[in-house]
Amino acid sequence: MYLFNTLSREKEEFKPLKENEVRIYTCGMTVQDAPHLGHLRTFIFADVLRRFFEFLGYKVIYIQNFTDIDDKIIQRAKEEKIDWRDIGQRYIDEYFYVSDLMNIKRADAYPKASQFILEMINLIQKLLKKGYAYKTKSGIYFEVEKFKTYGKLSKKKIDELLAGARVEVDEEKKNPLDFALWKSYKENEPYWYAPFGRGRPGWHIECSAMSMHYLGETFDIHIGGEDLIFPHHENEIAQSEAATNKPFVKYFLHNGLLLLKGEKMAKSTKNYFLAKEALREYEPDIIRLFLLKAHYRSPYEFTTERLEEAKSQWQRIKEFFIFAKKGKEAFRFIVPEKIVNALLDDLNTPFALGEIFKMIEEFFKTKDLSLYSLVYSSLKLLGFKLTEKEPLYLTTEDNIENLIKARTIARKNKKYDISDKIRTALNYLGYELRDTNEETIFFKKEEKEVNKEEFKKIVDALKKEIEEQLKEEEFPYLKEILELIKEY
Ligand SMILES: [Zn+2]
Repeated sequence: MYLFNTLSREKEEFKPLKENEVRIYTCGMTVQDAPHLGHLRTFIFADVLRRFFEFLGYKVIYIQNFTDIDDKIIQRAKEEKIDWRDIGQRYIDEYFYVSDLMNIKRADAYPKASQFILEMINLIQKLLKKGYAYKTKSGIYFEVEKFKTYGKLSKKKIDELLAGARVEVDEEKKNPLDFALWKSYKENEPYWYAPFGRGRPGWHIECSAMSMHYLGETFDIHIGGEDLIFPHHENEIAQSEAATNKPFVKYFLHNGLLLLKGEKMAKSTKNYFLAKEALREYEPDIIRLFLLKAHYRSPYEFTTERLEEAKSQWQRIKEFFIFAKKGKEAFRFIVPEKIVNALLDDLNTPFALGEIFKMIEEFFKTKDLSLYSLVYSSLKLLGFKLTEKEPLYLTTEDNIENLIKARTIARKNKKYDISDKIRTALNYLGYELRDTNEETIFFKKEEKEVNKEEFKKIVDALKKEIEEQLKEEEFPYLKEILELIKEY
């Protein structure tokens, strides 16, 4: 498998540190608000990568954290006059609500930053002892100049970074790029006791402590959004490697940002679309399809048109399952080689989806039932739920077969005014029709209240029209149609 490693800026062959095992850490949510679609992009990418590794036979250890202690959470707790822990728990619950609906596999552990304070204190102690950190009134800082390869992930030199750095208020800091490992106690803020003074941890140290706790001092893959490359991941590398003298992570993978109106989807700028809101209108599989249609590394613009496009493509997948299921062959889990190869090449999901849609169109041409297993397995591999609910189903409860037959006769005789009117009657009952070369596919989109009188009116008008036409000329097929729709 080849993966684009941000450390080398190249596609590299994936070689696990331990045979047949992959250890992955993904930066999770700061639980100050509900997840938006930009967050989901990262978690869906990580989910597909993990599923694919499992498909390839690897044992995957997957860890994703919650940052539950942070300036914004404290601020929010003050505003709402409740405990900061309650804010965190509220949005952890929201995260699981969304992630379970989206069929994202649960991680092996979801460490919360507030549960790993001791590990962070130990790490900071180590850095102080080794001379990588120093103390000021406002906290403990990591001294970036001491870490010789600082900037190796973001590919920036300290001088360049300095030029772009904001002017910091803390004049005690040796270098504006030095970052807080520990923030000294402030009134009305949560705090913990530490040998170097009470306070609370900085953001970056959390991820180093939690990832190394579960995955070891060196692990395989670290995932996050592209916006985390600098400073978050750069700082994670610096403090972890300074503490252990070992490489922290072998492959850093970053997904491109989800954009809204050309800008990063982000809570801070109020430029976002909440996942739960999208889920109110769209099935989870449609949202997954929308996200996987772009390669994980490309920037991707969110528009409702694109979501609608995914919706109609999803409809096509459903139609496929209705018809392929009708004559379902013995199911085998089998993914076509082309799709496996696409995923082996830096997880090329747009190509994989393209192949799936090709198979579906092939099915409608050939009715080759062996395609059922291939399409189903491929979609499952990409994490689609498929079974959640089936709002589309074949039903004969309304006894519509004769209407379908009558419509087919009308179409064969190019009597499109009549076939259209029959379609209108069927639509009224909630049926959707799709004409293929040989037959008409029909399915119910939703259960809806039907006024039988109204339906009868539509059919009666049609009967009258056919009778009128028959007075002019006695076409046998018109008689046949009339016979078929008589009962309605
Ligand atoms: Zn992180």
